[in-house]
Amino acid sequence: MSNSIPADGPLVTGPGDPEHDPGAAYALEPDHVSSLTSLLLATSGETVVTRTPLTGAPLAVLPQSSDADVDEAFRRARRAQQTWSRTSLAHRQQLLLRLHDLVLDRQEEILDLIVWESGKARKHAFDEPLHIALTARYYGRTLNRHLDPRRVPGVFPVLTRAEVNRIPKGVVGVISPWNYPFTMALCDGLAAIAAGNAVVAKPDSQTTLSALYAARLLVEAGFPADLWQVVSGPGPRVGGAIIDRADYVCFTGSTATGRRVAAQAAERLIGASLELGGKNPLLVLRDADVEKAAEGAVRAAFSNAGQLCVSIERMFVADQVYDRFVDRFVARTEAMTLGATLDWGNDMGSLINEDQLRTVVAHVDDAVAKGAHVLTGGRARPDLGPFFYEPTILEGVTPEMACFGNETFGPVVSLYRFSDESEAVDRANDGEYGLNASIYSRDGARARALARRVKCGTVNVNEAFAATFASLGAPMGGMRQSGMGRRQGAEGILRYTETQAVATQRGMPLAPAFGLSDEAYAKVMTASLRVLKRTGRA
Ligand code: NAD
Repeated sequence: MSNSIPADGPLVTGPGDPEHDPGAAYALEPDHVSSLTSLLLATSGETVVTRTPLTGAPLAVLPQSSDADVDEAFRRARRAQQTWSRTSLAHRQQLLLRLHDLVLDRQEEILDLIVWESGKARKHAFDEPLHIALTARYYGRTLNRHLDPRRVPGVFPVLTRAEVNRIPKGVVGVISPWNYPFTMALCDGLAAIAAGNAVVAKPDSQTTLSALYAARLLVEAGFPADLWQVVSGPGPRVGGAIIDRADYVCFTGSTATGRRVAAQAAERLIGASLELGGKNPLLVLRDADVEKAAEGAVRAAFSNAGQLCVSIERMFVADQVYDRFVDRFVARTEAMTLGATLDWGNDMGSLINEDQLRTVVAHVDDAVAKGAHVLTGGRARPDLGPFFYEPTILEGVTPEMACFGNETFGPVVSLYRFSDESEAVDRANDGEYGLNASIYSRDGARARALARRVKCGTVNVNEAFAATFASLGAPMGGMRQSGMGRRQGAEGILRYTETQAVATQRGMPLAPAFGLSDEAYAKVMTASLRVLKRTGRA
């Protein structure tokens, strides 16, 4: 990747820009687009034109990477990693904390770009720089705790000194989706470079500019230019080429693709972490604060128009509060504002593309045809933009409907009534996924006890999904078909390291010595083990 930083200036011109003609549409500055795409290692001569979901207008011409480009990306990354892995943890922490400040300083520019590329509402885009700042601060403050060599008891006290080192894997392949284009492109790889690795990243083609902006910020923060390479192209070809060359792969995307990635990684005997899909449940218990639950339910189901791996698509509500909850949830949903603008006014933005809109329409139409009721929403909104769909609440969804167990990944949620809490947990655990759950109750202890019975990698009490996702010290990821491995916390960085045990033997060897026979040695060892057990040693 080139080290050049383009000149400052607005990335997007539009109504937020004081010099903008209020009658004109938004425009992405061509100089900025080309300065970002110049960071790609892509010389195949092929290009792909991306379009903004806000209006369907062309956004960028993206050069595509060949196999030779992926080779070159790995060559540069490997060379950079050798020097980088010898830098002190203190230096890496300093750069991470500098990135934290840079992301907060540049947030307006970052938000413009994310909204422009993904079509989401600005308030949902804000979650992305926020998540990167939290990630950078967390690892910027805790690297020593995770990576310093650790002393462990040797086989014999005094005679054997043992320690465990954390060795970086080498070059990590990061394959990311379009739904959170800035943070998904950066957060996992940030932990990888913090651990002393280099990264070759392949973002989704729809949202490559946000990923390139992230790569440029790393260089501005002081990370070596070649440490983070970005390549572009179709997932099966370029993603596959990355897995063929990487020492570890971090994949975020659908469960179907995740299975392919896992099979290819297994063939090469490299590790992989997979952050995949979900059909996430929310439980409103009989003692819940209904108003709070309805407010959380809106964010849970409709953040980023439901195109969020941890968003809620199934709500189980206790009989005692069902009617009140539905009333409040529907009222709050109907009060939402939808719009295709860059400013802060919208509660929900667009879906990403035609395919996503088609899935949402198909799920709702299928449910309605089979007898479900639409409490609110249920319509595409081409008057707002080509891929807009209203936030939609369904009742009466049954197992033969497509949206019962399949991930919609759109603004569609199904409501179910329950009278028995254990039965509600069983229904929440139904199906193949296990990513995120949410429980609303006034009794935190009771909700936390119930959480232990929910088969999901994260459970939020009295919050939709952000409490776990923003608590960077806690691991995040899926059980069952929702993934393997975890991002964030200790697991989120240790996955990018190999443990290495180093033991130093002093004085007596671990073999017969001082003229002892093998038999006498066995007796001495046996007696020693008995003594060690009595003294409580591990
Ligand atoms: P996707 O699986 O189609 O694509 C994800 C990425 O993989 C893209 O960059 C794509 O180009 C690449 N890819 C496609 N085929 C590949 C292959 N054979 N080998 C290697 N790479 C390949 O997913 P999507 O539609 O972009 O994203 C939506 C899905 O991602 C949803 O299911 C959502 O739940 C999931 N997701 C999960 C998390 C999480 O943290 N668990 C976060 C965001 C999204």
